[in-house]
Amino acid sequence: MLNIALFGPPGAGKGTQSIALIKKYNLTYIATGDILRQEIAEGTLLGMEAKEIIDKGGLATDETIVQILENRILANPDSNGILFDGFPRTVVQAYILEGLLLKLNTSLMCMLSLEVPEEELIERMLERGKTSGRVDDKEDVIRFRLQEYKNKTLPVAAFYNEKKKFFPINGVGKLDDVLKRLTKVIEKNLENVWVNIVLYGSPGAGKGTQAKKLADKYNLVYISTGELLRKEIENETEMGKIAKTFMEKGDIVPDEIAIRLIEGKIKMHPAAKGFIFKGYPSSIVQAYILDGLLQRLGTSVTGMLEITSTTLQSIKRLSARAKTQSARVYDLDPEIIIHRLEVYEKKSPKVAEYFQKQNKFSSVNGEGSSEEVFQRLCLSVESLMKKVR
Ligand code: AMP
Repeated sequence: MLNIALFGPPGAGKGTQSIALIKKYNLTYIATGDILRQEIAEGTLLGMEAKEIIDKGGLATDETIVQILENRILANPDSNGILFDGFPRTVVQAYILEGLLLKLNTSLMCMLSLEVPEEELIERMLERGKTSGRVDDKEDVIRFRLQEYKNKTLPVAAFYNEKKKFFPINGVGKLDDVLKRLTKVIEKNLENVWVNIVLYGSPGAGKGTQAKKLADKYNLVYISTGELLRKEIENETEMGKIAKTFMEKGDIVPDEIAIRLIEGKIKMHPAAKGFIFKGYPSSIVQAYILDGLLQRLGTSVTGMLEITSTTLQSIKRLSARAKTQSARVYDLDPEIIIHRLEVYEKKSPKVAEYFQKQNKFSSVNGEGSSEEVFQRLCLSVESLMKKVR
């Protein structure tokens, strides 16, 4: 999701710029000030509670704000992202926003701050007051609102600056020029959003072949736990020796080993724009681990794509591979093949369910030629990319 907070003092032009931004990026617009004014106009309980504070230019209570946000977000579950205007206005609200987005399995991409000198702000709001009908667009209230901004809202900038998500933008000039400055920063941020795809499916479903092609085409780093493990075994490292005993039997290797290898591989690609994981996670525990690991890196799984395959088809592919140079030790014995398919059958429903619950799971038909399956996967990858970039 493309979540943006538009920041800046009252009168900076947040509302005006928002109209263009929500259209361009197809975002849900949440302007806490607008919603509060609507609640007041409709005479709701929330509105009545907040009216007195707002008329004086003070800040509504966090409790009021949380109720407003929950209502709005729940009403737009399939949105491309959210544009927050007028929120977060305090450091407490910044924490609320972090929690709220975490609950939605997403995070704030950036905070864009429109910077305008105070005298121009006052002029703009007095001008707006002539037609807006807003009781808070009067000089004494305006001055109080600016004071509230300096005391309570400015510290929010430091909160996001620390996270490297804060971008000051010159808010003076023609509407179009300011909009261009905003979109330039958004585009730059979008380029840097990681796309992390998990390619899933039973042994022999064709994950390896497809994952490598997808990584090439979409400039993602390919991470195959199997491949990393085989290298460790080849180099006879300590990890390799332990892993070997599990792999030979067709079992999955201990979690500690797999995660160390994955972390190592990720660190080798500091400029990566995303990863394609193959063979991981293969259990519910590993699904939690991967989420934890990616979260630590400030990113998350974009989606899991399952290549569907019948047991018969998988066996055919595995026994075909056994006759080639890329035959694995565990391809040669039918009993081990059956064991691996059984392990997958046992563990996969929970892994799939884990990502289904986050709305991050989709199946791709694995029948047909490798090229046909690849084309189907490309469509799915592109729609996942659209979700985040
Ligand atoms: P705005 O339309 O953003 O200028 O907001 C108008 C008024 O609504 C503010 O002066 C506050 O009284 C109230 N308000 C808007 N957003 C918030 C918020 N996030 N927290 C507290 N009060 C808010």
